[in-house]
Amino acid sequence: MRILIAEDEALLCGQIKKALALEGHAVDTAGDGEEAAHLGATEPYDVIILDIGLPTKDGITILKEWRKAGVETPVLILTARDGWSERVNGLDAGADDYMSKPFHMPELSARLRALLRRRSGMSNPVFARGPLEFDTRTQRVVVSGFPVELTAQECAVLAYLIHNAGRMVSRTELSEHIYEYDGERDSNTIAVFVTRLRKKLGADIITTVRGRGYTIDGG
Ligand code: CA
Repeated sequence: MRILIAEDEALLCGQIKKALALEGHAVDTAGDGEEAAHLGATEPYDVIILDIGLPTKDGITILKEWRKAGVETPVLILTARDGWSERVNGLDAGADDYMSKPFHMPELSARLRALLRRRSGMSNPVFARGPLEFDTRTQRVVVSGFPVELTAQECAVLAYLIHNAGRMVSRTELSEHIYEYDGERDSNTIAVFVTRLRKKLGADIITTVRGRGYTIDGG
């Protein structure tokens, strides 16, 4: 999934990015309010982490602008430890969740997973459809009871299709959600990843809509 981190503390920003990248996400960062506002309004993120105290434009203002412009991406705000009024303002401005600094990374990860599931209408962290099981917490994939090893990119493609199960996803859309902003986006390589996935998972799990994209049965 594709995530934006808007956080001006470079060390913290780098730590969050590293942890989320290890979980298979494509992560962009913005250390400045104007840049964050622009990226969030123009790039198709699956979830956004937004620090309230940002230089040039504060998080609450950015969030209000996004919501007014129709940006529906789930937003988790980062606030100061005793910033209860920031949290109220943030939630009322359209935030979906919050974390107070300092926090433990596993909790942030779990909250992000919950936001991603909620948007996809998944209540169970384990997606099960036919012979396939995909654990969104560990990215563990099991087919007919047997574990299947996927590369990071195959896993990213599968995770995005699962979070959008029941809907046709184009190659372009997939490439926008598995690569970072600077990433080398080539929608032709998506076809290669899907071919490999179909070999590993069985041909029935991902349906190809010829010339248009792919879909996983929404059940
Ligand atoms: Ca800050």
